[in-house]
Parts: sequence; structure tokens; C-alpha cells
Amino acid sequence: MSNTSSPIIGIDLGTTNSLVAIWQDEQATLIPNALGRPLTPSVVSIEDDGTILIGQAAKERLISHPQQTASVFKRFMGSQKTYRLNLAAGQGQHKFSPEELSSLLLSTLKADAEAYLNCAVTDAVITVPAYFNDYQRQATKSAAQLAGLNVRRLLNEPTAAAMAYGLHESGNDRKFLVLDLGGGTFDVTLLELFSGIMEVRASAGDNTLGGEDFTQILIDGFITHQQTIDAKLNADFWQPHLPLLYAVAENGKRELSSNNSTTLRLTLDDTAYEWQVTASAYEALAEPLLQRFRQPIERAVRDAKLRIKELDDVVLVGGATRMPLFRQLMTRLLGRFPSVGLNPDETIAIGAAIQAGLVAEDAALDDVILTDVSPYSLGVDTSIELGNNQYQHGVFAPIIERNTVIPTSKVHTFYPMQDRQSEVLFNIYQGEARLIQDNIKIGEMSIKLPAKYWGKAKQLPIDVRFSYDVNGLLEVDIDVEDSAETYNLVIQNGARHIDDAEMQRSRKKLSQLKIHPRDQAKNRNLLARAERLYTQRLGFEREQLARLIGWYESVLDAQDEIKIRQASSELQKSLDQFEKDEWF
Ligand code: AMP
Repeated sequence: MSNTSSPIIGIDLGTTNSLVAIWQDEQATLIPNALGRPLTPSVVSIEDDGTILIGQAAKERLISHPQQTASVFKRFMGSQKTYRLNLAAGQGQHKFSPEELSSLLLSTLKADAEAYLNCAVTDAVITVPAYFNDYQRQATKSAAQLAGLNVRRLLNEPTAAAMAYGLHESGNDRKFLVLDLGGGTFDVTLLELFSGIMEVRASAGDNTLGGEDFTQILIDGFITHQQTIDAKLNADFWQPHLPLLYAVAENGKRELSSNNSTTLRLTLDDTAYEWQVTASAYEALAEPLLQRFRQPIERAVRDAKLRIKELDDVVLVGGATRMPLFRQLMTRLLGRFPSVGLNPDETIAIGAAIQAGLVAEDAALDDVILTDVSPYSLGVDTSIELGNNQYQHGVFAPIIERNTVIPTSKVHTFYPMQDRQSEVLFNIYQGEARLIQDNIKIGEMSIKLPAKYWGKAKQLPIDVRFSYDVNGLLEVDIDVEDSAETYNLVIQNGARHIDDAEMQRSRKKLSQLKIHPRDQAKNRNLLARAERLYTQRLGFEREQLARLIGWYESVLDAQDEIKIRQASSELQKSLDQFEKDEWF
């Protein structure tokens, strides 16, 4: 067991779903949420009266109450984006930053862990994508802080996945490729284990390629098929039924992961529309998508100066890697069978729990040191003297090169360009391009030169030190010779930096929110599911659902525990039947 009094939890804070796990009794255990499930959808919704719903019930409301529901906020961590969730008509709206929404999600995961472990939880290891930049990492830490969690370590997701497969114990100088195909993105990471150190050697990806694209081709295929039967059944006809068609296509896609064919079936006003799809027809339709996987893999392998045959293992993560056509393609491309023993939805959380165990210095785990690398080069803009008093401006001078093992601290000395300068502005960039215009500006610092150098500023050495820590946070210190002043990084532009005052404001705002009670999550989820089905269905089915919802609400209002339990079980059965399309 852990030698710290308070347990450290491992959290996979995902775009679509989040999970929490713990290292306990020498193994990683996933912690169930209030519905008894390991996956909590990363969705937050607000009810008319301002009550906040988080997880599955909120996900159901994505369809029935889209104006009151927020999802995929992880993509906007560290950005200026504001989510506006509407209250009842005329009551205004609540505004949330991506960090605040993430903190609500993290609070739920923390509460689930506390209920499961029966003790207070204050510390966590949280996973982030390998390509997250400083802002996104800082934003993740701020979200955790708002949720009352102290981040003991931010861990790169692919590193967590490799650890879940035990690859950190697999011997010296091994190279692994981690392929993560989620709902919307494909991420490729090349890891190397060397002398007990796990390094990210390269990362690449396509953030417009994911499992949802495969659902979309089934939606398109269904519409095309219907049109060949009756030209009136075109895209316009299907437009109002897209949410329902999406659910049918999603189910069909999952069926095709375990069967050789499936039938997509949609019943509208007593008419059944069907399309039978075989695995080979599906593969033919998916061909343009399948073509796109090759390039990011090749880029990552090339960046790491390796060849595919030098890889020791390939790990698959993300729900969409269950698709046989993806697995077959990877086997062909990489000349080996990928490791697939673990549930791809759970792999990262398991890795996070293993890392949490290591942080707690659990004796049962080998003390492997994990390091990551800086995912980008970090540097400042400079000018190059071309002779004859001519300069090329806007040239990027990297201080920490991409793929440098972190933590690291590097210093470069610069000299002012003009003798009569009294100030120097350092613009800080991340990226790989030669010119700063093609990189991302992440901050700037203005330095005053000491009076004794006025008129001869070109002789003044200025030391710029970049320190990059294991959490991927960058600190810049500038030291000017003969100056008593020291300068620390001050972020002025670009992405958002959350300062203390803002943290205070957020904390106050979040503490005033009414969060839906955890012990009623099951009931609220059933109601949200019924409302979602109501939105998706029409005609007689709607009437049935409206009656069920009204009845269930009245039972909830009466607050009789036994009756609520009976009614919940009945409603659940009815909804299951609805979703199986067995009513007609
Ligand atoms: P993630 O972001 O890792 O939760 O991945 C979600 C994606 O995985 C979604 O596009 C799902 O449709 C997809 N997915 C989950 N299970 C399956 C399955 N059995 N077959 C095909 N795709 C799946």
C-alpha cells in the first residue's frame, strides 16, 4: 500500500470521456462513478434553475438541451473560449471557461474516488496529450486546483498507455509506437525506454481524423442507399432525423467491429428504412479515411530517426482502435500485430494509476524514472546581421530544442542590435519553423538596459535562461550584466494565463453553483435519457415517452424511496426497449 496517508488518484481527463483509477493492492483499479460505470462522459449541462449536471446525464442533454450543455472543452483548454449555458428563458446564462468546465468534471471524479475509497482525496496524477503546450498544461493544473486537487504530476497520455502495458518494465533501449484514435483525433507518439527513462521521441497526428468520421461515412452511405430506392429520400429529407440516424450509424459501426455485416434500421412514422452493410462494403467506403493514417505514422518515425522495423511494440489506445479495419491496416503498415490486450478506453487511466503509485513511492513498483521531452522547440526572435548594416529580422533562435529531455534549463547569451538601444524586447515562441511568423508566440518580455551601456549597448551580454519542468511548464529568466534587476517570464499575449485574482473569482463562482447530488445521479440520468429519446423520436413513440417522463417526474416529486426505486427500474426497462427498437 501507499506510504502516504492520502491516496493519489490517476485521472484520464479525456475529450469524450474521463476516468479515475487508483493503485491499490499492487494493481491499478478503475473507480466506478455514481452510475457504477468507469467512464464518465466529459460533458457539463445546466438545468433551467441553474443546477449543474456532469457526466452521463449531461451527455444525454447534448441532444435534448444543446444550448444548455457543453462538451469537447478539452480542445479549448488554455484558450479564450467562453461557453455560455442558458438558464430558463429570460433568466440569462452562465459563462464558463474550459478550465472551469474541466474543474467541474474533475470535482465529480474526485467525489467518485472519495465515495469509493471512503476517505478524502486531495492529490492526483492527470494525463494530458503529449502535444499539449504550456498554456494547455497550465490550464489543466488550474482546473485541478479549482477542483481542490493538487497535481502531483502531469503525465503524457501515450506514456501512460505504454505504462499500462508494462512497457516501462520491458528492458533496455526499447522503442514503442502509441497510436491513439479517439472520436475526433489521431495521435501518434514514439516513445523510447532507455536506462529506465521513458522518453517521448516524436509526436505527430491528424486532429481532423477520428472515430466520428467513420460514423459519418455510414450516415452518408445510408442516405445514398435510400436515395437509390427513392430520389425523394435525399439529404434534405434526412436533415431533421440526423440525431436519430447518427445513433443508428454509431451502433452499426460498433456492430461492424464484431460482426461481418450489420443492418442500419430506422423507423419513421411506421415506415422502416434499412441498409445492410457488409464489412467489405464498409471498408471500401472507408478507404479515403484509411489512406490518411499512413502519413502521421511515417512522420513520427522519421522525426525520431528510426525505421518502422526498429519498433519493439505498438500500442493502441482510444475507442475507435477497436475497428478491425483499423487494426488490420496497422498490422499491414507496421508489419506486426499491435498490443491490444487492454480495453482501449481504460488504458490511459490505468497508466495514470500506475504513475500515481510510483509518485506515492509504492514499494511494489519498480522505481522507473519517467521523463518526457519538450514537444516543441522553444526560443526567442532574433535578427541576423547580413553585413553592410543589413539585417534579417524575425529569425527564430531556439533555446530549448524539440525533443530535449525535461526537466531542462538552457541559457543563451544575446547582444542588443543597436548601440543606442535602451530597451530590448524578447518575443518568446514555440515551433519548428525558421521564421517566427510561422511559429506560435507564447509570451514577451521587455528588458531595460543599464544607463552605463547607453551608446554602446551592442557590447552588453544578456543571458536568457529557459527552464522547462517535468510538467511541461516554461519559465524564462533574463539576466542583464551590470543590472540589479532580474526578469521573470510575464505572459502578455496569446493564450490565456489564469492569474490569482481570476482563480479567486472562478473559485467563488463555482462554489456558488448548485451541483446535482451524487446520490440522485441514477434518477437524473434516467430522466435525461428519456428526454433525449423524446427529442429523437416522433409521433406515437413521443407520446409514449412524454407520458413516461411525466409519470416518472411525479414519482420523483413524491420522494418515496421505495416507489422511486420501483419506478426507476420500470422506466429503465421501457427505455431499453425503446433503444432496441422493439416497441413496434
Ligand atoms: P474515445 O475518444 O477514445 O472515447 O473514442 C471514442 C470513439 O471510439 C468514438 O468515435 C466511438 O464511436 C469509437 N468506438 C468506441 N467503441 C467502438 C467500437 N466497438 N467499434 C468502433 N468504434 C468504437
